[in-house]
Amino acid sequence: MSENQNNDSFPFQAEIQQLLNLVVHSLYSDREIFLRELISNASDACGRLRFESLTNPEMLEGEFSPSIDIEVNEPGKTIKITDNGIGMTSEDVIENIGTIARSGTKQFVDALSGEDSIDSQLIGQFGVGFYSAFMVADHVTIRTRAAGHAPENGVHWESDGVGGYTISDATVKQHGTQITLGIREDSENFLDVGTLTGVIKKYSDHISIPIRLKDTSTEDSGDWDTVNTASALWTRSKRDITEEEYNNFYKSLSYDANEPLLRLHNRVEGNLEYSALLFIPSRAPFDLWDVQRRKGIKLYVRRIFIADDTERLMPGYLRFVRGVIDSDDLPLNVSREFLQKTKQVDRIRAGTVRKLLAELKKVSEKDAEKYQIFWDEFGKAFKEGVTEDSENRDRIADLLRFASTKGEDAKQTVALKHYVDRMHENQESIYFITADSYTSAKDSPHLEIFKKHDIEVLLLSDPIDEWVVMGLHTYQEKQLKSIAKGDLELNWLDPDKPEKQTDLRIDSLISKLKESLSDRATDVRTTYRLTDSPACLVVNEFGLSRNMSRILKASGQDAPSDMSPILEINLEHPLIQHLVENDSNLDDWAHVLFDQATLSEGAALDEPADYVRRINSLLTDTVSEQSSVIITP
Ligand code: ADP
Ligand code: MG
Repeated sequence: MSENQNNDSFPFQAEIQQLLNLVVHSLYSDREIFLRELISNASDACGRLRFESLTNPEMLEGEFSPSIDIEVNEPGKTIKITDNGIGMTSEDVIENIGTIARSGTKQFVDALSGEDSIDSQLIGQFGVGFYSAFMVADHVTIRTRAAGHAPENGVHWESDGVGGYTISDATVKQHGTQITLGIREDSENFLDVGTLTGVIKKYSDHISIPIRLKDTSTEDSGDWDTVNTASALWTRSKRDITEEEYNNFYKSLSYDANEPLLRLHNRVEGNLEYSALLFIPSRAPFDLWDVQRRKGIKLYVRRIFIADDTERLMPGYLRFVRGVIDSDDLPLNVSREFLQKTKQVDRIRAGTVRKLLAELKKVSEKDAEKYQIFWDEFGKAFKEGVTEDSENRDRIADLLRFASTKGEDAKQTVALKHYVDRMHENQESIYFITADSYTSAKDSPHLEIFKKHDIEVLLLSDPIDEWVVMGLHTYQEKQLKSIAKGDLELNWLDPDKPEKQTDLRIDSLISKLKESLSDRATDVRTTYRLTDSPACLVVNEFGLSRNMSRILKASGQDAPSDMSPILEINLEHPLIQHLVENDSNLDDWAHVLFDQATLSEGAALDEPADYVRRINSLLTDTVSEQSSVIITP
């Protein structure tokens, strides 16, 4: 072996250093997961080699039969894990092992730095992976060689997990990777064959590559023992699978320590045959909003792992679903391009999504409490389905939950169906208001008339809700209507209400307000929305809601320029009545009314100082009027 032709030392990247500190010093209880991580890497490496070799057959040096071999040597205090997978070049090693490039891992480090008690489940969720070796080892070497490269192009990597690592050239006969752990004193229990067998069975039983274990403690140590059943659980009949087997499978697949919330296991027969075993976690993963990390569904073809690209198999709004889809009909030599194009994958996806939606529907009807857990954890992501999956729009609509004026708190518990069932007799629309928080929605002056007549209004405060209501448009032929837009057509409430008297003084007030607000409001008019507040802002029927304009603005997009709202004033309010009688300082009043209406939407003012100045000027007038009453004899 020609070792150390050149030998480079590198310090750890700061993030890795941080990660190592956490891994070594904070995660005592679940050290055993190091083996799961290393086996999963080995299995991935074999899967990748099989996949890549479909288009590059020369990568395989003869027959490929993937294997993961584990040797344990008690007197030598080592555990060695060897795979014959795709291996790594020295660039790969530096890139994959030497840096934490993946945003998920960065988030993990950020989330955990500075916390005292650390939830070791997180390690798996974030796929901290390789570095978990240092939970049990104080010395780790990697010997690896990329498949398709010459044996002399191997790499030797070595580290004590403290300051950095060294890399040197090596000759490695077999393509693949061998990782040797020098076990630390406090982890010597893992040098026991029985313990290792237990850990492999617990976390890696479903790995479809045989995992073999051998004790090399003595010269005449025993033979290789295959530890995992390597059985594809999803191909077995439901009746023969215990709850525990399902749960263990889920846990090893998702790295989640909790039981799943929901499970769906089905087999589709016919001219496109496949099995799906899918789970919905009971807690949202930390990376639910990390668009890059979407590896929830593994695709198998006749039990052979092909890819874990979720995008093609599960739409974005169901990205939290975990599991396996195994197709009998896809060709084994599918390439990534093929996966992108083939209609069969589309059909598998469509069928699976429909099944999932049906299952969710069932749960929502039979076990509202469980459904609520689902909604609280995943509702925000699920709502994306309204716009993303128009084919299933109606099915998705039934599954949506909202906060409402009939609910008790911010919890989203009201289904559109509940709403429609308790609509007023003559009510034709489903009313909603959007705002940037539940509190702003709930306290919005626009609700006043609806409260007075006991009409339910949905209170929408997730940014995505704006898109949800636009995407839905109607539910059971009832239009969804924003109560802050256009004419509410509430005549059905009070059909006998006398026509409003025209009053010249009111007309004059309105035209003066319009003039003062000519830059800020497209119109000023009297309202029927309000009972308690003096004024509110609305936009016309087809305009963007004020909330939506703010969302767009916050995300750096230009809101259309004709966005000025309409100011509606409440003639019953004493302030407005005062202005009808006495229009001194009307310009200040106009702007103050406008700004207050903005504040009551929970929004910030564009020019708060101007508001304060006008308010103070009006207050000063009031104060001096009062003091003049007192002082003047
Ligand atoms: P993850 O598996 O989530 O990507 P890891 O820390 O477990 O994170 O591994 C980092 C990377 O190192 C892997 O993505 C892979 O590219 C590489 N790697 C780790 N172990 C192996 C292995 N046994 N064979 C080939 N590549 C490996
Ligand atoms: Mg890994």
